[in-house]
Amino acid sequence: MRILVVEDDTNLNRQLTDALKEAGYVVDQAFDGEEGHYLGDTEPYDAIVLDIGLPQMDGITVVEKWRASGKSMPVLILTARDRWSDKVAGIDAGADDYVTKPFHVEEILARVRALIRRAAGHASSEITCGPVRLDTKSSKATVNGTTLKLTSHEFRLLSYLMHHMGEVVSRTELVEHMYDQDFDRDSNTIEVFVGRLRKKLGVDLIETIRGLGYRMQAPADAK
Ligand code: CA
Repeated sequence: MRILVVEDDTNLNRQLTDALKEAGYVVDQAFDGEEGHYLGDTEPYDAIVLDIGLPQMDGITVVEKWRASGKSMPVLILTARDRWSDKVAGIDAGADDYVTKPFHVEEILARVRALIRRAAGHASSEITCGPVRLDTKSSKATVNGTTLKLTSHEFRLLSYLMHHMGEVVSRTELVEHMYDQDFDRDSNTIEVFVGRLRKKLGVDLIETIRGLGYRMQAPADAK
């Protein structure tokens, strides 16, 4: 899962980015509204954390512009404590949720998890696919109750496939959601990661759809 953090306070931006990376996401950073708007407009993010008070372009305008151009990714806005009207304006502009500053970073993580889950149609914090269980809260996965030892890449791959269970996911899409913008992306490596993940899962849940990509689904749901 790939997240964009738009925050002009460099310390806060770094703090958020570090916490999100620690939780297993890949993170891109922007430090003003124009840069943030551009990235959100051109890169596919699973969620965006957006400060309202930004130089170049304010956060409310940024959300408005994304929504006007049809971008539907979940957006969590950060508002100042004494600016209740920003929350209303932000939500009306198309933001999905807000957190008031100062905040505990755990609250941001919980809200981001919930937004990503909801966007993928999952209400619960645990997603299951046959014997595989993904706990989005602890960033852990189990097969028949046994914890899987996954690298961060393998976890991101599994998490993305499970959030999009039953859908055909292309290699390009996986690359875009597993690496940040500066990473030297090579879609051939995806095949290697899928191979390793299949081996670790030990059950055949990831189907290769020739020429299109991969699809993960529980055996009972398979057509
Ligand atoms: Ca600010």
